[in-house]
Amino acid sequence: MNLKDQIKNIERPFVIAGPCSAETEEQVLKICQDIAALGSIHMLRAGIWKPRTRPNSFEGVGSEALPWLIKAGEVTGLPVITEVANKEHVEAALKAGFKNLWIGARTTVNPFTVQEIAEALAGSDVTVMIKNPVNPDLQLWLGAFERFEKEGINDLLAIHRGFSFYNHAKYRNVPNWEIPIALKENRPDIPIICDPSHIGGTRELLMPISQKAMDLNFDGLMIETHPNPAEAWSDAKQQVTAEGLEKILDSLVLRSQQLDQNVLNVIEDMREKVLSLDDHLFELLGERMKISEEIGQLKRENNITILQHEHWKKVIAARLSKSDDFNLTERFVRQIMDAIHQESIRHQTRVMNPDKN
Ligand code: PEP
Ligand code: MN
Repeated sequence: MNLKDQIKNIERPFVIAGPCSAETEEQVLKICQDIAALGSIHMLRAGIWKPRTRPNSFEGVGSEALPWLIKAGEVTGLPVITEVANKEHVEAALKAGFKNLWIGARTTVNPFTVQEIAEALAGSDVTVMIKNPVNPDLQLWLGAFERFEKEGINDLLAIHRGFSFYNHAKYRNVPNWEIPIALKENRPDIPIICDPSHIGGTRELLMPISQKAMDLNFDGLMIETHPNPAEAWSDAKQQVTAEGLEKILDSLVLRSQQLDQNVLNVIEDMREKVLSLDDHLFELLGERMKISEEIGQLKRENNITILQHEHWKKVIAARLSKSDDFNLTERFVRQIMDAIHQESIRHQTRVMNPDKN
């Protein structure tokens, strides 16, 4: 059976663990055996060709390491996965016996490369996990799934590893949780694994990010695990030992998606109220826009511009100063007001320039 379907029957989280990079045969075997001994891990990972940001970093051992991971799989009885970034990698990995492959974030970003990999995999029976592209572009991520499906590769999973950001104070790659949530909305059939290692970039953040992923009902976690993290040849700050991994997994609180019927009834009532408040909000917005149009009509008759800077500045300042009264953040109030203003300008533009729209 496809992993995509199997995963639905596995108790969450489905965990993939292993080093950022395969460094030596001993290192791969040691960490894979330690991980397997935990008894709660489902798949082993190791990067063999490493896409590094700067050229003089360790760029992976290359195909020499393929049999090391295959051997680790045989010794532990666990399935193994590695990253492929072009058709030569695909050919070498298939030849070595890999049944699971992942596509890295720097590859998903390029449709030509995704297409090349999908074509190289056509006709083979593999599971492919697709990391989000480095930029927060849902369409590009969705497109990558479609490219594989067009080549007949249907056992597909998603890995959320966060998005590039210049000098973020907290994350190595910002999570933008709304993007994996939107992926789920578009493709409810595709399981999502969270990669807290590349989102956080530090060991300390692994736990809170993993918990958040579980609370958002992600299917699994991919966590970089190394026998001696501080000495790792790549991503030393974010890797944990097998023991560290066990601690994280043990401390996760797993909340059920199934609700008790009584609780569900209460929640349903509250959801009804929220829905009717939303109806009301949109009725009010519709009314507001009608008045905007009437103002637009007057502006047209008196030949004055749509945007009145001073007036808008005052409106925004007054609204922001009341954010606290409603227990809303200034950022949220600003976003809502900007959206309302844009819509209002659109309505007035239509009234003022009827033939140009
Ligand atoms: C990795 O998983 O080691 C890796 C290179 O990840 P990403 O493609 O997310 O940067
Ligand atoms: Mn890594």
